[in-house]
Amino acid sequence: MRVVLLGPPGSGKGTCAKIIGEMYGVPVITTGDMLRAAVVRATPLGVTAKGYMDRGELVPDDFVNDLVRERLRESDATNGFILDGYPRSPKQAEALERILKQSGKRLDHVLHVYLENEVIIDRLSKRRSCPKCSAIFHLENKPPRVNGRCDVCATALVQRNDDKPEVIRRRLEVYREKTQPLLDFYEKKGVINAIRGDIDLKELPAALRRVLGYC
Ligand code: ADP
Repeated sequence: MRVVLLGPPGSGKGTCAKIIGEMYGVPVITTGDMLRAAVVRATPLGVTAKGYMDRGELVPDDFVNDLVRERLRESDATNGFILDGYPRSPKQAEALERILKQSGKRLDHVLHVYLENEVIIDRLSKRRSCPKCSAIFHLENKPPRVNGRCDVCATALVQRNDDKPEVIRRRLEVYREKTQPLLDFYEKKGVINAIRGDIDLKELPAALRRVLGYC
């Protein structure tokens, strides 16, 4: 199963990705997490990426294309993958086409996770995440059991640098300018489906199955 998730920041792509990955037994490849890990380790990529990420801009295509190409070569991705946060620009979509073509593969689904901007802004500004295990919380809708601590690993929760209101606005603009055109690109290929990003968590797995089909 090879799936791409498209949708604005904060739409719920990450949650859908995790469920689909578990459902079909394939790895979830989240470029945002990979880039944040590179920033923490201060690798050359991380040092370059940090400025772009803190401003809500996209990291230049070539860096991210190389990162994904390498990741898709790993053995766990042979039978499928869920791409969360990639591709995010027409150049990245073309690069992904080339990568897949070289290995004689193609995408099974592109899933558009959509949500209104007001809901997104509320979600992101009240989002807190665990820097260690990436678990996500919301101050009102999904507060951690112990204030400020991750439920999974007890690490102190943080607000991402790019979850500040002015950066959220910029990320939404960048999404509209650079990523939204990909909806058309995949529409023409006939592989796109859509799902709302605020379906109740208890109902989400069944809703995703209905959209993606059984296998
Ligand atoms: P969100 O989808 O909520 O914006 P992500 O964790 O997917 O969050 O991405 C955070 C940041 O990482 C982006 O704003 C961007 O700077 C960088 N990034 C992630 N994926 C890509 C990508 N495919 N191309 C370029 N930059 C990316």
